[in-house]
Amino acid sequence: MEQRKLGRTGLDVGVVGLGTEYLNGQPRDTVVATVREAIDRGVNYFDLVFSFPEYLDNLAVALEGRRERVILTGHLGSTEKDGQYHKSRSVKQSETYFLDLLDRLGTDYVDVLFLHNCNTERDYETLVKPNGIRDLALRLQAEGRARFIGFSGHSVPVALQAVESGHVDVVMFAVNLAANAAPGKRALHQACVAHGVGIVAMKPFAGGKLLDQQRTIQVAKYQTGGEALKLRTSDAEPNTPVRCISYALSQVGVCTMVPGCRDVDELRAALAYVEAGEETRDFSPLLAQFERYVEGECVYCNHCLPCPVHIDVGQVNHLLDAAGEAVSPDLQAAYDALPVRASECTACGACVERCPFGVDVLARIEQAVAVFEA
Ligand code: SF4
Ligand code: SF4
Repeated sequence: MEQRKLGRTGLDVGVVGLGTEYLNGQPRDTVVATVREAIDRGVNYFDLVFSFPEYLDNLAVALEGRRERVILTGHLGSTEKDGQYHKSRSVKQSETYFLDLLDRLGTDYVDVLFLHNCNTERDYETLVKPNGIRDLALRLQAEGRARFIGFSGHSVPVALQAVESGHVDVVMFAVNLAANAAPGKRALHQACVAHGVGIVAMKPFAGGKLLDQQRTIQVAKYQTGGEALKLRTSDAEPNTPVRCISYALSQVGVCTMVPGCRDVDELRAALAYVEAGEETRDFSPLLAQFERYVEGECVYCNHCLPCPVHIDVGQVNHLLDAAGEAVSPDLQAAYDALPVRASECTACGACVERCPFGVDVLARIEQAVAVFEA
């Protein structure tokens, strides 16, 4: 499986990870079979969002003898109350549940410790106040119980605040087709690249809604990271797991994504992405279903090719969007590695004619020359 660097953590993550939320409540055999097949097929990033004892014990059995092969997360503030998930901002309670997670998993540390599920400015202030959850995370990191600090949430502006604070190494938020035009999303992705913060894409299927067989689907606010949406899907262009994953992984700064799989069959449907050809991965025909699609923004689909001088238009646009206002050495190196640079463009206009999304490719090419070749 392709691997990417998880931002400044330097960790190598398989592009398809595993969200374990839906393994909660499943029989132990199912959990073990799903996790082990995932590891055998190259999945190495596992998001452990809950603190339920049975859920953790099942995962512990599944991961036995495999700890060094995987990247594990924990979520400070994900606790339980009366057997139900409970988001807590109590430092003491958060620490108790986290230490229990380590204990049950039989490990001394997690790789990424998330400040869990923060969606409002007010909640963010609570997290980062002195002696709050963030300070707890830093202490646990200093004690060697967490290698890196992450932030998870569903609000684009709050996630941006966390990224720009310089305090987090990883962010996890919703990246899916339905959220393609969420306000501020592009700026958030660019900020992550600029700050070296790795993006873990969650909700690639918008909580399963995108795979719904219904023709009209309602996608909630927390599933888009922006506004609630009502969508009409088409039988002619089905939203397959492979297309949804392909979309998430095409977005600027995304390092891995965590589909929630409840069993081996769902895992295999997600892992079909790894073997899928370009045609099966192509999500661009689906964008028309999403009323909020922003005309003129490149989606890196390369339907504008072939280019007579062999410019990879999608990749040039991708690097340009990633650069935002500042070109990092990594982005410059990626640009320099392109077989053909944007300055080779003859302005023939063929790509403009072919782009189904109204992208002003010539202007983008000029911009790329100014940004990367000046
Ligand atoms: S310019 Fe248009 S066709 Fe080309 S990669 Fe971007 S969106 Fe796709
Ligand atoms: S305009 Fe430039 S990038 Fe587009 S097809 Fe022609 S040469 Fe290639």
